[in-house]
Amino acid sequence: MIRDEKRLAAILEAVRAFVRDECIPIEERVDLDDVLPEPVVDRMRALGLFGHSIPEAYGGAGLTTEELALVNIEVSRAAPVFRARFGGNTGIASEALIADGLDAQKRAWLPRLASGEITGCFALTEAEAGSDATALATRAVPARGADGRAGWRIDGTKRYITNAPIADLFTVFARTGDAARGAAGITAFLVPRGTPGLSTGPAYRKLGQHGSPVGEVRLDACWVPDDAVLGGEPGEGFRSAMRALNKQRINLAALCVGPALRLLDEAVAHARARRQFGQPIGDFQLVQAMLADSATEIAAARALVLETARRRDAGEDVTKDVSMCKLFASETCGRVADRAVQLLGGAGYLEGHPIVRLYRDVRLFRLYEGTSQIHQLNIAKHLLKGTP
Ligand SMILES: Cc1cc2nc3c(=O)[nH]c(=O)nc-3n(C[C@H](O)[C@H](O)[C@H](O)COP(=O)(O)OP(=O)(O)OC[C@H]3O[C@@H](n4cnc5c(N)ncnc54)[C@H](O)[C@@H]3O)c2cc1C
Repeated sequence: MIRDEKRLAAILEAVRAFVRDECIPIEERVDLDDVLPEPVVDRMRALGLFGHSIPEAYGGAGLTTEELALVNIEVSRAAPVFRARFGGNTGIASEALIADGLDAQKRAWLPRLASGEITGCFALTEAEAGSDATALATRAVPARGADGRAGWRIDGTKRYITNAPIADLFTVFARTGDAARGAAGITAFLVPRGTPGLSTGPAYRKLGQHGSPVGEVRLDACWVPDDAVLGGEPGEGFRSAMRALNKQRINLAALCVGPALRLLDEAVAHARARRQFGQPIGDFQLVQAMLADSATEIAAARALVLETARRRDAGEDVTKDVSMCKLFASETCGRVADRAVQLLGGAGYLEGHPIVRLYRDVRLFRLYEGTSQIHQLNIAKHLLKGTP
């Protein structure tokens, strides 16, 4: 649903200019240095990028799912690392709070996330709880604080957490029920940096998305008061995580379309410029087939994402469809990247061309927020049960 055509057009224009003039020119440097310069982050704050999905009442732009998908497609034409810097705040790190937070929690955190004053992160994954996210071993037990207040003591280690090394607010999922595994008895806690017992590890060295810090979150007798429980009700954390991921899968699918379009543009430019056998390689029909397949698959992914976003805005249950979006858009992006490398020939195996960098960057999309296999299982589960 597009709520305000004029406002959306202005946001899209500002994002396009930012991507073209301020992100793409420094992509190579960011990749080599593994650091996003702070002035670019300040520009993201000034442009309101941290708060696009956060309701207006809490300082954000309150974009609908479809509006946000259109913005995500534009923003992700630059290397994904730029979006990764603000994407937690306007995605996975705020969605659970928006969906299930108490008003006091929303007032405390959302305006600061929306402005980019603070950075949020979503700390679910653990060494033994990846695809099987219900196997969490991080545990929280009721405990009094030093001042006698009622609260919880959290112990455990989270891994692979985007923005953990720089985050100010951690949404930590921990087991509070008696069961050793399963979705019941998982609680989400809002834990600010500086809370004694919470620490983060250094950023990992990664295949791609250099400049986007991802690391561990350690909770060692980390005490938080009762009002840190997201939504105030222990045991509701897994439902909150799934609600957040449900929306996030549309965001992520849109974020696969942007790089795919960029890769296609780069591939077309190369097919026009590179000459072999006395003519541009774009004249060869086998090369044309690769370009045509990529263009067609990207158009299909874009249409699926926008249609699903519209249906979500209309209040439909799109649980199966968001898995289809994430699966199809991320696999499409991977195929487009692979064909683009193929079109480069030997240069596709050497560092230096944006296609090569994007090939490394987009590999992550098929792995996180549910691997392709987990989404296939989810889609099949709904088909077999006959649920939406
Ligand atoms: C750069 C990066 C950033 C991340 N950011 C975050 C974050 O911010 N917050 C967060 O909580 N997590 C984050 N993650 C974690 C990510 O979501 C997980 O890595 C992902 O869910 C897969 O879990 P795993 O790595 O343990 O793989 P595994 O679960 O061990 O999977 C290994 C393989 O087995 C397959 N497999 C597993 N189970 C099945 C099954 N039942 N049927 C068929 N195949 C199966 C998988 O598809 C995969 O191919 C991030 C990961 C990375 C790499």
